[in-house]
Parts: sequence; C-alpha cells; structure tokens
Amino acid sequence: MQTTRRTHVCRIQNHSQVANALNRHGWSASKLWNVANYYARQQWDETGEVPDETQLKRELKTHPTYNGLHSQSSQKVLEELSEAFSSWFGSDDDRDNPPGYRKRNYYDSDDNRVHEEHPRSTVTWKQRGIRHDTKHDKLRLSKGSAHKQGHDFILCEYDAPPEIELTNIQQVRAVRNTTKDRWDLHVVCKHEIATESPGDAVAGVDLGICNPAAVALPNDALLYPGNRLREDKHYFQQEEYRTEGDHGPSKNAQWARDKLAKRKDHFLHALSKDIVERCVDHDVGTLVVGDPSGVADSDWGRHGNKRLDNWAYKRLLNLIDYKARERGIEVEQVDERGTSSECSVCSHEDDADRVERGLWTCSRCGSVAHGDINGADNIRQQSLTVTPPLGQVDSGTGCLAQPRVIHFSRTHGFQPRAPAG
Ligand SMILES: [Zn+2]
Repeated sequence: MQTTRRTHVCRIQNHSQVANALNRHGWSASKLWNVANYYARQQWDETGEVPDETQLKRELKTHPTYNGLHSQSSQKVLEELSEAFSSWFGSDDDRDNPPGYRKRNYYDSDDNRVHEEHPRSTVTWKQRGIRHDTKHDKLRLSKGSAHKQGHDFILCEYDAPPEIELTNIQQVRAVRNTTKDRWDLHVVCKHEIATESPGDAVAGVDLGICNPAAVALPNDALLYPGNRLREDKHYFQQEEYRTEGDHGPSKNAQWARDKLAKRKDHFLHALSKDIVERCVDHDVGTLVVGDPSGVADSDWGRHGNKRLDNWAYKRLLNLIDYKARERGIEVEQVDERGTSSECSVCSHEDDADRVERGLWTCSRCGSVAHGDINGADNIRQQSLTVTPPLGQVDSGTGCLAQPRVIHFSRTHGFQPRAPAG
C-alpha cells in the first residue's frame, strides 16, 4: 500500500492554558536559530565555508539554548537553518540575502532602540516528542528541559477538521497564527492510499436515527444501533439544563455540551471506520449511499428509520466518503425516494406494507426483512452495477430479517454481538 503525508490544521481548544508554554518554546526556537546563525556566519568568516547540518548539531548540542526545546525539536531548527543556507548558496539571484536573525527591534521617538524581542518561531515536534491520546483528542508535546517547571509536556486539546481522523502522526508543528493572535497545531499524518479497489462487490448504506447505519453487503447485512449515542445525549443534555444559569451557560453546562459533541464525533468516526473496514473484508469496490434530499418531510414518519439530524448526517456521509476513498472504494450517492416502501426482493411497491417492530413484510412475495436492511438493499440495487437482491442469496443465513447487530462501546469501538448460547 502506498502512503502519503498530509498536514491537518487543528484548533487548540484549551488555548489559554497552553499559550504561555507555547510562547516560551516559540521564543526558544528563535533564540536557538539566532545563536546557530551567528556561529555559522563566524565559521564562514574564518574558514570561507558554512558548517553543514551535522556540524551545526554537533556544535550547538551543548549550548544552553539547545535545552529550550525537546532535542528533536532543536534538531529541526538547525536543519531548517542549514536548509536556508543551502538554498541561499544555490540561488543565482544576487539580491538574495543569507538567512537573517529572528529579532524585532522597538525604537522610541528619537530612534533609540528601547526593546528587542524575539518573534515566536514555529516549533516542530517529531515522533519521540509526541504522545497522542486518541480517546480524548489530546496531544502531549514534550517540553525543552529548560522549561520543565511542573509538567514535562504541553497538553493540547485539539479540534481536528470535520472529516479528519489523526492517525500515524509524524510531526506536530505549533504555528503562530498572527491574524488570530493564537497558536494552531499543524499535524502531519502518514496516510495509506489504496491504489487498488478491494473488489467488484457493491454495498448499500441506509443512514438513520434509530439505527444510525444499516448496511447491505452482497451476502451479509449489518445493523449499527444508536442507543449508546442516545444515552449520552440524554445524560449530557440533562446535565446541561440542570446547571444552566440565569446569565448564560455555566462552566459545567459548557463542559456538558463540549463533552456530548466529542462523544458524538467519536461515535461517528468509529462508525464510518467500521463500515469501511467491513466493506474491505467483503471485497466491496462500490459503496452506495442514499441521498435523502428528495424525500418529502411528510414521508419521514412512515420511514421506519427516521433521519439523523442534518449535521450528523452530513458529517457521517463525509467521513464514510473520505475513509472509503482512502481504501480504494468508490462512493455513489443515489436518490433515496421509495427505498423504504419497496420490497428489496421482488420490487413490489406498496404503501400499505408497514414496518412493524422493525420488520417489513411483503404482501406479494412474502419476504420478511428488517426495515432498515430492506432500505439499505434497495439503495444498494440502485447502483450502476447490477446486483442480485440480498433476499435471493440469503437462503439459509436469514440475514435479511436478522442482520448482524454491531454494538458500540467507548473502550472497544464497534464489536459484533457475541452469539447467544
Ligand atoms: Zn416482495
């Protein structure tokens, strides 16, 4: 499998708690740059040659400014400086200058220098300086030994962009966003890119609220219940209302709201990942997803599987799309109209056919199907590729009426329910 590196810009949620520590490290990076730059220019004057990366590291390793950052972060500053010298040497434009010092001077009205400040440079952490807490979306970035009062690391809570899951982190860069006057984290991840499709099979997904997802595979059916999500929603909303003050949200109410948003997001990430991985296992090359925009609101009451809220629906769709493409699976969107009132086995359409206790019964061919799986299989059959109904290949397994139920736990993610007995 091929890999590629991508950089994702993440907002720091607990910015006020970590800004000071990041400032100190940003200044340290500037100081190290300046000290190394001074040394390099001195060597150049004396020997006519600028020291290379290895020489810079050997010389500066024992300098006190080196301890302002984690050793790998300090190395990175020296690598950048060496790179800047090389590109200056390589340039044939006479107007180019050698790498400058990172200082900002302040003058009074008489042009006397009154203050000198180091700008805050970008700080880069490499793998040994990074610990990633995936469960709570936190990054521990190792401090330089000169700044280790209290904790050994800067604990950043991050917000990743919507469709992104940070995995295989290679580097984290703290970058000063001057327009917003705050730090952002640029996280460099190694992504796997499937160059080949897992196979020719087609799967269909029905997204809903009671069961956030029902999946029809060529010879299997999966159901993902949303009870965990509903319990969280109930608990944290109670908590929010209970502590909401007269003067806007209390600290606890805000906490509950953030916590719920995180839980929801974690759930959707895990859900999309599980769907895509199971598709890969079943040689699925095309994943068909229903688009509900054509479905009239009045029809939703009849639909056994009511619609997810707009935000969650779009987010889940984006996540599935992103993860599927990364595994070489094409995603098709089809109109969802009619998919809940049609028999997935014989195409008989009858509004009188009702979903009772989740079961859909066909008055023509007698097929019994789980309502959401019936919908998912109808969606699957709308693909450009011709696919036999699940109910025809189903003989024996009974998965159309009794899909495999895959439960979510925060510690183990999605797991098929252990067979009874
Ligand atoms: Zn039928």
